[in-house]
Amino acid sequence: MDSGPAHADLAGRTALVTGGGSGIGRACAHALAAAGATVHVVDRDAATAAEVAAEVGGRAHVVDLADAAAIDTVPAEVDILVNNAGLQHVAPLHEYPPEMFTLLQQVMVTAPFLLIRRCVPHMYARRWGRIVNVSSAHGLRASPYKVAYVAAKHGLEGLSKVAAVEGAPHGVTSNCVSPGYVRTPLVDRQIAAQARAHRLSEDEVVEKVLLDRSPVKRLVEPAEVAALVRWLCGEHAASLSGASVPLDGAWTAT
Ligand code: NAD
Repeated sequence: MDSGPAHADLAGRTALVTGGGSGIGRACAHALAAAGATVHVVDRDAATAAEVAAEVGGRAHVVDLADAAAIDTVPAEVDILVNNAGLQHVAPLHEYPPEMFTLLQQVMVTAPFLLIRRCVPHMYARRWGRIVNVSSAHGLRASPYKVAYVAAKHGLEGLSKVAAVEGAPHGVTSNCVSPGYVRTPLVDRQIAAQARAHRLSEDEVVEKVLLDRSPVKRLVEPAEVAALVRWLCGEHAASLSGASVPLDGAWTAT
């Protein structure tokens, strides 16, 4: 863990991480806290939010991000906003449940919009801010059966660019990090489902299905994504804005 005075460049900064109770969000909460930030952990799962908040010496906020009104209960005075919460649902387009499509847009596009809208006045007033949106290779490429997820992540990429353009005169950057498959509970659930559907072992699913389009044949670890998020929050990254940084083992290079 990169802690210690030499790395504590986020001391005095306050961060808010959505979906901070699990996977990538949890790793981000740890990385930002290790760099000196005070971290608000936002998640709909009360137990994991409390657990991570305790681990990082931060505060838990139990919020369902599909509920626009509930977003008004989270702190607006944050310097670093990590829009990370997300979910997946897989089905062919013609069978895709419309209510599930709407839910994915609410959690992965509308909630990030409402949070950015809520938090930028504080960032603008302090003339410093970092918005990091956890997108996906699916923010840049399509796969079958993931219509809501691909649409939402492409929407998040657009939202992030507008936040970058408007935030620039105020010292606020906005970027996406766009991972390939990361070893988290979200992907563990997909591996199990695909193994049943294709009658393969879970190892075969990882190699032949998930990493089929990835030249680098390994899952990304949550800590690798968190290290990039934390890096984007540093002073050195002030000119990097409006970008989408792939962390996908060269998948989108093919
Ligand atoms: P995860 O399932 O491990 O964690 C997601 C967290 O978000 C959970 O704690 C969950 O409770 C929370 N969450 C979900 N819906 C919520 C809601 N309505 N309100 C509040 N909290 C909610 O998943 P993860 O793999 O860590 O994914 C985090 C982000 O990374 C997502 O946006 C996902 O799309 C993205 N991502 C993941 C991968 C991957 O392979 N795991 C790849 C690319 C992008």
